[in-house]
Amino acid sequence: MPVELNHFIGGRLVPGTSGRFQDVYDPTLGEVQAKAPLATKAEVEAAIANAQAAFPAWAAQNPQKRARVMFKFKELVERDMDMMAVMLSKEHGKVVADAKGDIQRGLEVIEFACGIPHLLKGEFTEGAGPGIDMYSMRQPLGVVAGITPFNFPAMIPMWMFGVAIACGNTFICKPSEKDPSVPLHLAKLMMEAGAPEGVLNVVIGDKEAVDTLLTDPRIQAISFVGSTNIAQYVYATAAANGKRVQAMGGAKNHMIVMPDADLDQVADALIGAGYGSAGERCMAISVAVPVGKSTADALIEKLIPRVESLKVGPSTDPSSDFGPMVSAEHLAKVKGYVDLGIKEGAALKVDGRNFKLQGYEKGFFMSGCLFDNVTPDMKIYQDEIFGPVLSVVRTESFEEAIRLPTEHPYGNGVAIYTRDGDAAREFASRVQVGMVGVNVPIPVPLAYHTFGGWKRSAFGGVNQHGPEGVRFFTQVKTITSRWPTGIRSGAEFSIPTMR
Ligand code: NAD
Repeated sequence: MPVELNHFIGGRLVPGTSGRFQDVYDPTLGEVQAKAPLATKAEVEAAIANAQAAFPAWAAQNPQKRARVMFKFKELVERDMDMMAVMLSKEHGKVVADAKGDIQRGLEVIEFACGIPHLLKGEFTEGAGPGIDMYSMRQPLGVVAGITPFNFPAMIPMWMFGVAIACGNTFICKPSEKDPSVPLHLAKLMMEAGAPEGVLNVVIGDKEAVDTLLTDPRIQAISFVGSTNIAQYVYATAAANGKRVQAMGGAKNHMIVMPDADLDQVADALIGAGYGSAGERCMAISVAVPVGKSTADALIEKLIPRVESLKVGPSTDPSSDFGPMVSAEHLAKVKGYVDLGIKEGAALKVDGRNFKLQGYEKGFFMSGCLFDNVTPDMKIYQDEIFGPVLSVVRTESFEEAIRLPTEHPYGNGVAIYTRDGDAAREFASRVQVGMVGVNVPIPVPLAYHTFGGWKRSAFGGVNQHGPEGVRFFTQVKTITSRWPTGIRSGAEFSIPTMR
């Protein structure tokens, strides 16, 4: 019998009351393992009320005490890492080692958050005018919310609540309803770490829950990560309701392969970055762009046997390179794109559509697919497929290669493989993409830098974590103060100046 999951509101697990549920699968078995309650407007409002009640005391807590909660939380996440990695793997379908990476990258943001007091310090000018000092301070916003996707159920919630809570906000997390168990466990750990009730709430839900968060006047800011159309909707709706918004969307990440690149290194990079996590990563490489015919021919020759020998298996089998797709619908969608690519005239060199795993026939599996001769007018080039499908687009020159990611509507990540420092430097400077790798296939910045794409990969212009994350979750107040010992200048009718 599938277990019924709960929300986490006001410091405890709370059963759902809507009577509406989302099936949570074990994608390896293709079976429902849990039922996630979908919150009503009233349940989301109860979470907001809890977070609002918790806010004044949490905001007034001194920053190092909030940081101490983060330190403790980090220890608890480390304690439960192995258990959570298996939990994550069984709901998402990514292999356990990769699930640990998902948790680890979130944990690094918590480590960053432990040092946030340093970034909350303001500025001070003594003697800005006669008897006048001027200073600024960063204050938390209030109740803020994060809406997260299925593909990083540990890292992305921690990107958001780690920074927001350390800055003194209280937080509502609306995780993906496909794999909400790890976010729920993280909320429990945050309480165990000493965060007061209401500081971190988790409500599981769909559009009804999201719309409540986007429109409720008590929510000050929305951080969203998910697909582009929903990101744009969230951005527009939350902004129209007067909220601060950052909304990260989908991607189509290219890897340029220059003729001087080490093709064995390139093949390793493409296999890992293209097929790891079954391609369900916003920073997955989905387009390889070799420059010159001989580079392309040699690359295809190296890739074919590597893709054919990918080991697809149960997500908890340590020998699997990657596991199943998250759901039957998503599997059908990805296979549909492969069908479409053939119709559009691309050359399918490796076909993983008919892969079946003995003993796991109901699992949502497919193996890797490799297309050659993909062209920019094809839908399989334009759309995010989000599966284990790599497209090779052949180009004749560096200029033609740089134009592809630059002109693509998405602009999340991009990589160049070359031994030529000039080419790499020029590429990094000119390409119109937010995160660039030079001989690095998945250039996800570390927690103390900042994560975010350009164009239709992000709306709102403020990135996740790092100093930008602190700016997103705080507002600046600037105080001009005068202690006019004996100074009296009378009423001033013109704008004050410090002449
Ligand atoms: P999704 O857009 O389907 O869901 C994301 C969140 O939005 C979930 O919490 C979901 O419940 C909610 N949602 C879905 N439909 C909604 C609607 N109609 N109205 C309101 N809310 C809605 O995305 P997903 O399938 O969970 O995740 C995969 C996508 O996320 C991919 O496009 C991937 O590229 C993207 N992603 C982007 C980044 C990034 O940083 N740019 C990182 C990870 C994933």
